[in-house]
Amino acid sequence: MECSICGSESVTTLKSKKISAKTKEINELLLKCNDCQSVFKESISESKPISIRLIISEHESSKKTSIDIYPDEKLTKGNLLLSDMGEVEITSLETKDGKRVESTITENISTIWTNSIEIPARVGVSVDLTGKVDSFKVELDRDFEFATDDFIKITAYIIRINVIKTQERKIRDGFAKARVTQRIYGKPVKFNNHDYDLTDKIVSRKGLEPKRR
Ligand SMILES: [Zn+2]
Repeated sequence: MECSICGSESVTTLKSKKISAKTKEINELLLKCNDCQSVFKESISESKPISIRLIISEHESSKKTSIDIYPDEKLTKGNLLLSDMGEVEITSLETKDGKRVESTITENISTIWTNSIEIPARVGVSVDLTGKVDSFKVELDRDFEFATDDFIKITAYIIRINVIKTQERKIRDGFAKARVTQRIYGKPVKFNNHDYDLTDKIVSRKGLEPKRR
């Protein structure tokens, strides 16, 4: 803020009054310059946050809430938001004309689609039994890291990971965090040692099914 008479940046606020309009908040100020002693008025207008529908997915279920964000704020897929139901990550933005986009300003958005990042990651485990697959779902800390060639115990099996399938790609040599992993694939090995045991992390077991090609 600077003095409208002499340009000095040393001003004191004598009075301030906030006026709330439909989409804006106007702050009317009465100011005094510390250099030339002039008294003058200034008004600053700010956009008001708008309420946007927010859908939070938690694995198979989802919750609906809303969040207040400034209309000119740009949102992008992957951004984190703090909702009234905890921290969430944007997966998609639905615009007012019904399109799904990866990035836009809040003003254009009708619904923000997100995943909760406060719940454990859910990862599939496929045990390849040559012709058949024994399939599990496990829940793990989001930062848990899988590496190809890890030896895993799950129920009576000890398997070695040969593929890690993430949201983006299939990893045959490398590692990935549980939060981006959809499924790990491994074959049983005749080996008694293992790097970790996922048995008590199992949330569901599909049972044996024919291997899909
Ligand atoms: Zn002045």
